[in-house]
Amino acid sequence: MPAYSRAVERTERMPAQTRPPGVAAVDPGSVLLPGHDVPLGRYTTVRRLLPQRQRRMIGAWCFVDHFGPDDVAERPGMEVPPHPHTGLQTVTWLLDGESLHRDSLGNVQPIRPGQLNVMTSGHGIAHSERSPAQHPPLMHGVQLWVALPDPARAGAADFAHHADLPRWRDGELDVTLLVGEFAGERSPAVVHTPLLGAQLEVRGPAPATLALRPDFEYGMLVMSGAAEVDGVPLAPGSLLWLGAGRDRLALHGDPGSLLLLLGGTPFEEPLVMWWNFVGRSHEEVAAAREDWMAGRRFGVVAEDPAPPLPAPALPSTRLKARDRSGGVHG
Ligand code: MN
Repeated sequence: MPAYSRAVERTERMPAQTRPPGVAAVDPGSVLLPGHDVPLGRYTTVRRLLPQRQRRMIGAWCFVDHFGPDDVAERPGMEVPPHPHTGLQTVTWLLDGESLHRDSLGNVQPIRPGQLNVMTSGHGIAHSERSPAQHPPLMHGVQLWVALPDPARAGAADFAHHADLPRWRDGELDVTLLVGEFAGERSPAVVHTPLLGAQLEVRGPAPATLALRPDFEYGMLVMSGAAEVDGVPLAPGSLLWLGAGRDRLALHGDPGSLLLLLGGTPFEEPLVMWWNFVGRSHEEVAAAREDWMAGRRFGVVAEDPAPPLPAPALPSTRLKARDRSGGVHG
């Protein structure tokens, strides 16, 4: 069990007089958000950390799944058949295991620990993710979604594999930069809003301080080990939502712990998220579903003979757009 079994609202906030110009709305402190288990494909259960009722996004990060470590020595491992996406990027980062990405642009790309896959759906793409028959005994990683702004969300699909990411030592931390800019380094991954994703590996028990951007909101999760972030004990299974208005963040952790820092400028457009689609209205998402079921728009996944995943039925009520704090629109 995590140290906290429900969301804990903290009251510390940056005093108004130290707030930098242009940072008007400072979120009142951090919120610990316990994740919940969701089955993914036939053989995997993930911990869903975003979206949640109270906080739906960190910058444009709109979906955070943490899976494993699972013993898949006698099991297929990851097994997600062809399915569509629109309006988002998928960002895949493995700590253990191996998966083969195939998509409707013709890409067939294995991914292993230390490598990053970034798939941009634009208006539409289809892909599958499966561990090869011969795979390592453990499966462990994260899959994240990034909401695309206009006009990228209506644009072309793309896929990029990054095997060589910026890595450096910062005191007690080994930093691997997955997405965005941090400490003067820049990731090769292409994103469409100001965004950060960084793995922090704790090397020693001494406290560390990260320099943050006050115009970004941030969140932290522990992928393995244990840490204390902004004074809050953190273990795998929960996300610490940190809000905006900070220029630094204190943390310390057990040596060997792996943390994931996410950040970005607040994404102000309300989103309709349903199944594998991110849109702005019920009609957009319903059209994406109809196109997938009719074999339009998303193409055919290369070298994957498995039948495409059918979309579930739409709910009988209209899908509503929600803003990043959970407010309902339309
Ligand atoms: Mn997918």
